[in-house]
Amino acid sequence: MMTIQTIKSLLNESNFRLTKEREAVLETLMHSGRMLTPGELYQLAKENHQRVGLTTVYRLLEVLTKIGLATPFLIEGEIFYAYCPEDHHHHFVCLSCHRIKDIYGCSQAFEPENAPGTVEYHRLDLFGHCQNCQEEIPTC
Ligand SMILES: [Zn+2]
Ligand SMILES: [Zn+2]
Ligand SMILES: [Zn+2]
Repeated sequence: MMTIQTIKSLLNESNFRLTKEREAVLETLMHSGRMLTPGELYQLAKENHQRVGLTTVYRLLEVLTKIGLATPFLIEGEIFYAYCPEDHHHHFVCLSCHRIKDIYGCSQAFEPENAPGTVEYHRLDLFGHCQNCQEEIPTC
């Protein structure tokens, strides 16, 4: 896992200073293990740091997404964000509890035979229900 120091210097390269408020939001996102809407992230971060504002949350998410340390997911018209480590990976997203499991070990050369051009990179995310949530689904 990347340290806050490494992330700090990455953000500095984008001329983004990691203030105490922003750091509180970042830490909340990093340790949540789930994807969060900006509103949810705001509520959670406020528990750690009183002075966090919604604007702070949006700005941070925007910059993190730009440098590849956050990934947005669009689910039923709502945008969620998850913290992402640098290395190439895929996601298993639980639609019930919103927990995210990173999946490593894919072929970087993955390229469908019928791609209508050259492929620079790919994204592949799986959406479903994690084992925890499956057990909770009542069988009738
Ligand atoms: Zn990720
Ligand atoms: Zn789940
Ligand atoms: Zn891949």
